[in-house]
Amino acid sequence: MSPKIAVVTGANKGIGFAIVRGLCKRFDGVVYLTSRDEKRGAEAIAALQKEGLNPKYHQLEVTDSKSVTTFRDYIKEKYGYIDILVNNAAIAFKSNAPDPVAVQAEETLRVNYFSVVSSCEILFPLLRNGARVVNVSSLCGHLSFIPSEKLRQRFQDPNLSIPELSDLMCQYVEAAKQGTHAAEWGNSSYNVSKVGLTALTKIQQRLLNDKDIKVNAVHPGYVDTDMTSHSGPLTIDEGAQAPLFLALDAADSVRGEYVWCDKRIVSWSGPKPGDI
Ligand code: NDP
Repeated sequence: MSPKIAVVTGANKGIGFAIVRGLCKRFDGVVYLTSRDEKRGAEAIAALQKEGLNPKYHQLEVTDSKSVTTFRDYIKEKYGYIDILVNNAAIAFKSNAPDPVAVQAEETLRVNYFSVVSSCEILFPLLRNGARVVNVSSLCGHLSFIPSEKLRQRFQDPNLSIPELSDLMCQYVEAAKQGTHAAEWGNSSYNVSKVGLTALTKIQQRLLNDKDIKVNAVHPGYVDTDMTSHSGPLTIDEGAQAPLFLALDAADSVRGEYVWCDKRIVSWSGPKPGDI
């Protein structure tokens, strides 16, 4: 029988690494740990092998469509399909980063939003019936982080298309370059990128509604990783719990939702619940 296939992006460390660990323990199929850097990927694979786990490896730089296409072709040739895709890879500039806001805006949106759009365009044709996609968003992906009511309305437009959403993201980058972003968009490129990702999740689900494919966004909790400079209280395995829930356990009716680390479905546009 053909095995089920799971893929996790940005999985050489942090929450992505723990998602791979959890999948290796619980998923009845083949698990691909992917990373942009092959050496860091090999070290992660070796660490999991020491635990008696057996993930497969492939290089995957999510901002490089050539790398994503190479991976797509490899999976297509070897198996022909994907059953679980976890879009986990992301970046966050530190609050004291010296880079100008315009640079931070462009780079953050490039990795956290535009790379998900493009890699999903490349990989989604491989999703087979019953597949699940988990977009690792954040608490910061809650719509309430966008100050402008007019923009919040745009994000919530039930007919918003991916090109229109991408255009909104470009408008943010342009505003950041002009220094006029704060009043309407707020002061964090990371927040905008994750609001964009949550909005993208809802559109992706809408476009796949005629298929048995579930696409959900998740806030994994505040986790002790390099991204948070190890200030989060949750371990990486605790941070992997909600992504694993969406990948493996959530009811088939959970589609296009924004799910919190305690596995609650949270209203994206309603009041923001406290972090956990
Ligand atoms: P880390 O910084 O620990 O890990 C990020 C991972 O993404 C690394 O493996 C990194 O690879 C990879 N990555 C970054 N850019 C790319 C790229 N262009 N192509 C491929 N891989 C890439 O972060 P976390 O584990 O904390 O975060 C994982 C996810 O969880 C992210 O989406 C983050 O936004 C989200 N999140 C995290 C929270 C937290 O408290 N930690 C809270 C809410 C959301 P490399 O090692 O090569 O840099």
